[in-house]
Amino acid sequence: MEIEIATIGGYEEVGRQMTAVRAGEDIVIFDMGLNLSNVLIHDNVQTEQLHSLDLIDMDAIPDDRIMSDLEGDVQAIVPTHGHLDHIGAISKLAHRYNAPIVASPFTLELVREEIQDEGKFNVENDLVEMDAGETMGIGEHCELEFVNVTHSIIDAINPVLHTPEGAIVYGLDKRMDHTPVLGDPIDMKRFRELGRERNGVLCYIEDCTNANKKGRTPSEAVARSQLRDLMMSLEDFDGGILATTFASHIARVTNLVEFAKEIGRQPVLLGRSMEKYSGAAERLGATTFPEDLGMYGHRKSVDRTFKRIMKEGKENFLPVVTGHQGEPRAMLTRMGRGETPYDLDNGDKVIFSAGIIPEPTNEGQRYQSERLLKMQGARIYDDVHVSGHISQEGHYQMLNTLQPQHVIPAHQNMQGFSGYVDLAESQGYKLGRDLHVTSNGNTIQLV
Ligand SMILES: [Zn+2]
Repeated sequence: MEIEIATIGGYEEVGRQMTAVRAGEDIVIFDMGLNLSNVLIHDNVQTEQLHSLDLIDMDAIPDDRIMSDLEGDVQAIVPTHGHLDHIGAISKLAHRYNAPIVASPFTLELVREEIQDEGKFNVENDLVEMDAGETMGIGEHCELEFVNVTHSIIDAINPVLHTPEGAIVYGLDKRMDHTPVLGDPIDMKRFRELGRERNGVLCYIEDCTNANKKGRTPSEAVARSQLRDLMMSLEDFDGGILATTFASHIARVTNLVEFAKEIGRQPVLLGRSMEKYSGAAERLGATTFPEDLGMYGHRKSVDRTFKRIMKEGKENFLPVVTGHQGEPRAMLTRMGRGETPYDLDNGDKVIFSAGIIPEPTNEGQRYQSERLLKMQGARIYDDVHVSGHISQEGHYQMLNTLQPQHVIPAHQNMQGFSGYVDLAESQGYKLGRDLHVTSNGNTIQLV
């Protein structure tokens, strides 16, 4: 059977992921993502109203026009997890394919919201829920399986397409976490089996975000204990404490809420995306929050909450807000600019439970946001965080575990791939033979 891989997006950047695998007549698409920084660089662009072709021209979503070169039918669109660089283009591209969107429950809920918010296209693809450990038939000869992995968002999976020529393992995005704060540990047992069974692994597509980082990425349990240590040290502080993190990082938000209670403060989630992600996680029973936890997204209810906090005393609250990357319109940035009713005082604490996404726009905006907060006397606690992506020793372990015949690095640019190329070559792979460094818009014929 012919096996072909189309590397459509996310092979020259971190963002707008999309890969298609053709096995004979059947095609499966993995991820349809948005590169948000290529949108934000333009002032006041509302993606909801934009046409796909305009977004393709902005390099914001994958240029899927090469799909017409693949001879076969798309049988499923499979987003691996709910981050925008993996689901953000579904509302713009999925309607062109007569295929269901198959995802884990939390991911599917976020896809549903993306589709509802879409202003330009009607996306009517069937939405099919599938849990880690489950399988579904693809055409007459293939099978799709979800393997549980751990990442900075709950319900992440690595999809595996079983073909008569061997398994294709799509490895985006993951950290090897054996003690995650929410959900099950990464299913390394299943990856070990895949390396040994039937025809083994024909091809592994790998998340190279941290391929240039040495060592091992720690577990979320480490971030949890760092965060608890910091918050306990502030137990006797009687001023304002603010925290910010990725709104989609439900484990981290859950911990912030828990530790706020532990030091006698009322946690409150503020900002549109805080309300969106935490609300969805709670609805699906993926996490439990205290019954009295407030979540406010709309400007008016946020301002009302800030006024109440100022009236009842900042020392009684812990607002968890959006703006960890210094996004100009996010809550923390607006607080830094003095645009909210919350007044910062000398010595107030701001906890960034997030790393800076290494990209010039982010770095500049984050710098500006921190400066504004410091100008008002705030003390900054930076980088109380662990990454959601495996580093070099994780990559080594995955290659050993899966023993793939072919490897394709993804989710980076050329510079970002370099650490992975070195590692794979030290394991006997050869560039151009079975190690395929590629770019957007290419196809690789494996069989
Ligand atoms: Zn991700």
